Amino acid sequence: MSVPNAAGWRPEPGEAGQGSPVMQTASGDRGLMLEEPLIFELGRPGTCGVDFDGLGDEPTGQPVAGLARFLRAEPPALPGLTEPEAVRHYTRLSRQNYAIDLGPFPLGSCTMKHNPRLNEKMARLPGFADVHPLQPQQTVRGAIGVIVELAQWLVTLTGMHSVAMTPKAGAHGELCGLLCIRAALEARGDAREVILVPESAHGTNPATAAFAGYRVENIPATPDGRVDLAALKSRLGPDVAAVMITNPNTCGLFERDMKTISDAVHAVGALVYCDGANFNAIVGRVRPGDLGIDAMHINLHKTFSTPHGGGGPGSGPVVLSEALTPFAPLPFAQAMADGTVRLIEEEDAPTDHPQTFGRMAAFHGQMGMFTRALTYILSHGADGLRQVAEDAVLNANYVLRSLDDVLDAPFGKSGPCMHEALFSDADHGLGGLPEGFTTLDIAKGLIDEGFHPMTVYFPLVVHGAMLVEPTETESKAGLDRFITAMRSLAARARNADPSLKSAPHLAPRRRLDETQAARKPVLAWQG
Ligand SMILES: *Cc1c(COP(=O)(O)O)cnc(C)c1O
Repeated sequence: MSVPNAAGWRPEPGEAGQGSPVMQTASGDRGLMLEEPLIFELGRPGTCGVDFDGLGDEPTGQPVAGLARFLRAEPPALPGLTEPEAVRHYTRLSRQNYAIDLGPFPLGSCTMKHNPRLNEKMARLPGFADVHPLQPQQTVRGAIGVIVELAQWLVTLTGMHSVAMTPKAGAHGELCGLLCIRAALEARGDAREVILVPESAHGTNPATAAFAGYRVENIPATPDGRVDLAALKSRLGPDVAAVMITNPNTCGLFERDMKTISDAVHAVGALVYCDGANFNAIVGRVRPGDLGIDAMHINLHKTFSTPHGGGGPGSGPVVLSEALTPFAPLPFAQAMADGTVRLIEEEDAPTDHPQTFGRMAAFHGQMGMFTRALTYILSHGADGLRQVAEDAVLNANYVLRSLDDVLDAPFGKSGPCMHEALFSDADHGLGGLPEGFTTLDIAKGLIDEGFHPMTVYFPLVVHGAMLVEPTETESKAGLDRFITAMRSLAARARNADPSLKSAPHLAPRRRLDETQAARKPVLAWQG
């Protein structure tokens, strides 16, 4: 039996490094890897970061003048820490975190690219950061100008007709698009019930369709990882409201038949929703409007480099075709004949926009995200944005070709990928993961190598999927370090290295029971 150290950490039998003096310390810290208990375990009753007159360890029992009825019967259940203890607690925890500012974040489908500091500087300008949502509009002309200018870029880059700026994230944008589609169908007295979603879709797509009240039906994928066009066409009919297609898709492939799909969908009176979360791979190269798409959300936190969930809601504007524009939620921006963009507001609705389905959110949307996205767009320019897409695709193909001799690349034979490289846990004798080793082992091994793991077990159409999205902001040297780590892990699997099965060994926490964590989460501290 090994002995737990001060922090309760104990090496497991057979664990790599067991018995090594660096693995056990009296403090629980391991060098600069600092152990940290929960804040409730740290605190002591009666300790406080500030002095309150008349409040000590013991309540004085004397009501403060005028506040008697608010006096607590018992002290609040707050952890008692001094200011430096509180600061250290959160700083220590932050060091156990992984961030895009520390290293690559190769999470496929998430586009975890660098957030340029210039974006942050612009978003913090008081004229944008300090505006109040209830301020009279004539006092915030500059902020409104940013929204209109960003809208103009989004409409231009996508070749669409209008853009609803208020949705707060990709999934919220999907809902916005489907509500437009529903409104358009209802306006022609044609309520339809079914939305077709390919097997490889992001989980938000079927969830959104069901949330919007539709019945979801799956469309299978072909062996080369694309939508099965024949299966899609044979399912189209008068009950189909829309098809939701991700392009590039979650296998990292461009749906080459997109225009044919859109034409077939329109021919039966249905509409085309495109999940545009992967727009990063085609921005400046392809205009979704030219592919017959009716609605598409754009994740500003992916393609346009705003932080993911950074301190509040994100932003997922939805671009709309001419057919769907009359139903757009308020406020929204519409392209005019002279090439400018006009913001249509609530007060314009009765005359100019009577068929709107309503609102997606209060006010105008996420100002902080708009400012960051527009900064990113203006600092790249049109040619720079095209280069973003090209470099993202180049980086993903570099990863694909640097690993496809040691890992199975299910669609690697059929040509280059787009912005993400997809591998599986298949064993092909000379390459791939041998019996007994899984995608999870590679992902956990990556943590020991100092990388955030790639997306695993998604998309579901590939067994033991590993979806690597390097993004364009990784240098060749950075990619080479990642590739070296991945090749080493694949070799350890082929050599049946048992320590890989129990990785990570060098992280603050060991391999967790993820099934239990998902099924029986303990979300509150149980002192
Ligand atoms: C990220 C993503 C979404 C959802 O976007 P959120 O902003 O997280 O709601 C939808 N589809 C795909 C393909 C994505 O990658």
